Amino acid sequence: MKLYNTLSRKREEFIPLKEGEVKMYVCGPTVYNFFHIGNARTFIVFDTIRRYFEYRGYKVKYVQNFTDIDDKMIKKANEEETTVKNLGDKYINEYFKDADALNIQRATVNPRATEYIGQIVDFVEALVEKGYAYAVDGDVYFSTKKFNEYGKLSGQNIEDLQAGARIDVDDKKKDPMDFALWKNQKPGEPAWESPWGMGRPGWHIECSCMAYNILGETIDIHAGGSDLVFPHHENEIAQSETKNGKPFANYWIHSAFVNVDNQKMSKSLNNFFTTREILENYSSDVVRFFMLSGHYRTQLNFSIEVLDAAKASVERLYNAIANLESLSQEVKEETIKEEEKSYKEHIESYREKYIDKMDDDFNTADAISVIFDLVRDLNTNLNVNSSKEIVNYALEFIRELGSPLGILQKSTKGNLEEEIEVLIEERQKARKEKNWALSDKIRDELKERGIILEDTPQGVRWKKI
Ligand code: AMP
Ligand code: ZN
Repeated sequence: MKLYNTLSRKREEFIPLKEGEVKMYVCGPTVYNFFHIGNARTFIVFDTIRRYFEYRGYKVKYVQNFTDIDDKMIKKANEEETTVKNLGDKYINEYFKDADALNIQRATVNPRATEYIGQIVDFVEALVEKGYAYAVDGDVYFSTKKFNEYGKLSGQNIEDLQAGARIDVDDKKKDPMDFALWKNQKPGEPAWESPWGMGRPGWHIECSCMAYNILGETIDIHAGGSDLVFPHHENEIAQSETKNGKPFANYWIHSAFVNVDNQKMSKSLNNFFTTREILENYSSDVVRFFMLSGHYRTQLNFSIEVLDAAKASVERLYNAIANLESLSQEVKEETIKEEEKSYKEHIESYREKYIDKMDDDFNTADAISVIFDLVRDLNTNLNVNSSKEIVNYALEFIRELGSPLGILQKSTKGNLEEEIEVLIEERQKARKEKNWALSDKIRDELKERGIILEDTPQGVRWKKI
């Protein structure tokens, strides 16, 4: 399995620290808002990589943090007239609603920065004791100049970085490249006790600390969006490698942005769509298909038109699944026939092609093409004369190839029922509001699809004609 390592700027063979296991840390969201569809790409990409490792038989320990204390959290808590703690609780809850709806598997651990304050203080103290960090008026800074390898992840040298850096007037640090490990409490801010007085952790230290406490000194993979390479991940390396004297992560994976009109989708540019609003009109299959139809290191331009194109593609795949599901009901032969055995082997050959693509730095775009080739092949070769066994095998096989991508797991039968239930509910609502035009429209729509409604004292029943 080959993956592109940001640290070496090369594709490398993946060799885990411990055979059959992957220790992976992904930088998670700052929980002050609903996450947008750009953030969603990052979460979907790493969920897919994790699923693929599992598909290949690895046991994955997957950690994704919640940043629940920083300037943005404090500002938003003030705006919402709540505490930082309550704000965090609220948006962590909302995060899970959207992540679950996107079929993102739950992490093994989702640590919150504020749950690790004691360990963060210990970490910072260790850096001070080693002489790599210094305290000034209740702040603590990391001295980047002391870490010889500073810049190795982003491929910059410290002199160039220093030349570009500026010191703010209110900065207490000795060198413009130094960064805060601990911040002195400002009036009204939440704070915790520390040897330097009341304060709160800087952003970079939380990830170093939580990765160390949950996964150990060296981990296999550290991941995040490409904006995190510098300074966030560069600083994490400096902190962790200084403290532990060991490599922090063997592989660094970064996923590219979702752009809108060639600009990064972001809260500050106000060019974003929340995941929640997109999921009102598009299924998780469509969103994931859209995200995975390009390589994770290539920027993706977002527009409703491209999303609609993804929807049409996903519908084609589900139509094929629906056809096979109907075929499975229609066919007469139960068991696989002798002459079908070589075709079964032929179906299986798609697994190898798929793995070849995914092993090549998670080429999901080409892996999706393999699924389309498979589906086309099945459509032309399976028919009423096929056996139920091979049709069901084909169905399972499509699901197998869809599962690392987190798509194609739904049964079209289930979907139809769900759709009908939703329409019935909408009709009931319309009736309650005495919107007879709408309620009649829904009834006619269902009738056209062969669904008859019966209003009974127990509620609405439906049947197929
Ligand atoms: P944040 O909550 O802003 O810290 O972002 C959470 C994650 O989403 C980080 O890994 C970011 O790198 C990533 N991210 C932010 N904006 C985008 C974007 N437009 N496209 C892709 N990933 C993004
Ligand atoms: Zn991080």
